[in-house]
Amino acid sequence: MEPLVRIRPPGPTAREILRRDAEVISPSLSRAYPLVIDRAAGVNLWDVDGNRYLDFTAGIAVMNVGWNHPEVVRAVQEQTERLSHTVFADFCSELPVRFAEELVKFLPAGLDTVYFGNSGAESVEAAMKLARYHTGRKYFLAFHRAFHGRTFGALTLTAGRTKQRKHFGPFLSAVHAPYPDPYRPLCRNSRASCDQDVLDYIEDVIFRTEVSPEEVAAIVVEPVLGEGGYVVPPRTFLKRLRSLCDEHGILLVDDEVQAGGYRTGKFLAAEHSGVTADIVCLAKPIGGGLPIGVTVSTGEIMDWPPGSHASTFGGNAISCAAGLAVLEIMRAPTFGAHVLAQGEHLVEGLERLRRVHEGIGDVRGLGLMAGMELVRKRETREPDAEMRDRIVRECFERGLALLPAGESAIRFSPPLVIEKDDIDAGLSILDGVLSRICGR
Ligand code: PLP
Repeated sequence: MEPLVRIRPPGPTAREILRRDAEVISPSLSRAYPLVIDRAAGVNLWDVDGNRYLDFTAGIAVMNVGWNHPEVVRAVQEQTERLSHTVFADFCSELPVRFAEELVKFLPAGLDTVYFGNSGAESVEAAMKLARYHTGRKYFLAFHRAFHGRTFGALTLTAGRTKQRKHFGPFLSAVHAPYPDPYRPLCRNSRASCDQDVLDYIEDVIFRTEVSPEEVAAIVVEPVLGEGGYVVPPRTFLKRLRSLCDEHGILLVDDEVQAGGYRTGKFLAAEHSGVTADIVCLAKPIGGGLPIGVTVSTGEIMDWPPGSHASTFGGNAISCAAGLAVLEIMRAPTFGAHVLAQGEHLVEGLERLRRVHEGIGDVRGLGLMAGMELVRKRETREPDAEMRDRIVRECFERGLALLPAGESAIRFSPPLVIEKDDIDAGLSILDGVLSRICGR
């Protein structure tokens, strides 16, 4: 394999494309650094000037089986020649049916009824509409720092940065509780019980002062906070939420758009807590790089009648063919164990860096969903977004693709097929950048 970056990016071809991009593309997109991708394979990306990068992003946790996996490519090529658009909302075809049948085999018993959309946000929209339809209730409860997408319903739940909501309201009816963050708990010195503090807050504050629980259709939760900073809550959190939902007849919606598809070592991150939600949202990795959104529930809950919800491209043949190839790869008996082993190796490596670099406040992770928090001083835990951004940018210039998450975290979400050598190579680049930027 050729060495990583040979000419300092962005090179001349990238700069020219970025100039054209600025002329014609909506300015609402924000990018951490000027990577202009040309091709990708496995855990490597190449830019348009021929630079190679080690990829610790998986295209925002999408390319879980690796970029351009030959089986996914073959499935897409074959299906494209046969049929691309199934018109599934109007005409039945076998492929989406088979994909749904195979997908539910990866899910807990009972989650056996599938709605196909086209994106993560659409899978959340469907979950919200279904929850309202089934319960006849209007309100949703979500969490601060959550990201569930940017369409109006999903954006009602998203509460990560005001920039994402500013001037777009009013939204639907929703209330937000703090997300249990062991590094920055709601009550001081309660790292282990920070989830119980949140549950108390919901019952003692939200349900007493903002909305009565019998008006809440669903609690929507990320089992591991994604865009909000790769925060792993205590394992008891989902169990406590499940009990709260059961007590009040509220549906539990598990947004696995980022954490699902074995990102955390299990097909659903909620499996680590032994919790089954009423509705599960899946997207990103399930289509192996093709657009897809999947909302799964029980037959009893998914009781909306014909005509109540559908989408032109839902169940798209190429996405389903890619999805079937993805599931076939994930079916390997060692797939989840590999993720857990590599994740442990990654987090141990990040933890070693934390011991020597003062600016790293916290390291956490579940499988290959790991986060590192940059702070001004360890004692105050004050976020250092500026330092985080410099680290991400310099890593890019040295051939390591990373993404920020939350206010001051870096997320590590490489393709799940990554091996230890590549993890070590990435950590070594990061170590060099940290030494330059935040000292030892
Ligand atoms: N839900 C979660 C947990 C996500 O991380 C995202 C996207 O990052 C979404 C929903 C929205 O997905 P999409 O961007 O495909 O609409």
